[in-house]
Amino acid sequence: MKFKRILLKLSGEALMGEKQYGIDIDRVAQYAKDIHDVHAKGIEIALVIGGGNIYRGLSAEKAGMDRVQADYMGMLATVINSMALQDALEKTGVKTRLLTAIKMEQICEPFIRRRAVRHLEKGRIVIFGAGTGNPYFTTDTAASLRAVEINADVVMKGTRVDGIYTADPLKEPDAIRYDEITFDEVYKKNLNVMDMTAFTLCQENNLPIIVFDMNKPGNLMRLVDGEPIGTLVKG
Ligand code: UDP
Repeated sequence: MKFKRILLKLSGEALMGEKQYGIDIDRVAQYAKDIHDVHAKGIEIALVIGGGNIYRGLSAEKAGMDRVQADYMGMLATVINSMALQDALEKTGVKTRLLTAIKMEQICEPFIRRRAVRHLEKGRIVIFGAGTGNPYFTTDTAASLRAVEINADVVMKGTRVDGIYTADPLKEPDAIRYDEITFDEVYKKNLNVMDMTAFTLCQENNLPIIVFDMNKPGNLMRLVDGEPIGTLVKG
């Protein structure tokens, strides 16, 4: 695949590094370097970051909190992560813009699709914060939605695992990684790639997904250079 515009989704948990909670600044700096290097090749990059390292609506609901209230707190957590990554990215010398689905005028711009596209065309890295702006959704869905809206070539999901396996590799050591798999096969085999809302949005819009290990420095570059790392999901 050739990439001109990519949407990279990073989970909040990935930002923790070896910590149990919060943000590991070294990990964020590593991500920023990897993103900078790929951007320097002329590839347009938009980012969505989760919030699970700080707050997760569903867990808070289980502990007794109102779900909608907790989800909004989760969305705010994604803005904190977005700001951390924005800072690290700008330290590498790239220009960035943070656009959020919930207005916070003092720290970022509101999400406006045409504006996001314009930023990308001008060579700025765009970070989409606050998820979709709606409770009961995830940042995976935000990633798929924004990717479709900005006409990205692909959603790259950077995780701690290096792709999609026939079974959970932590539980079954014999599990095999798929290099490539179709959307239908993922459904049939009941594999876990993204939540269903996010996944269906990609399928219906024929937007490929790549799942890969973002924690290995240089992997993002390997991916755009065409090395067969990770798993490609397509129609
Ligand atoms: N969230 C939400 N709507 C969205 C995106 C996120 O309500 O569109 C909330 C939800 O509570 C979620 C939290 O934000 O648990 C953090 O996002 P997510 O769990 O997707 O982060 P990740 O698992 O990628 O770290």
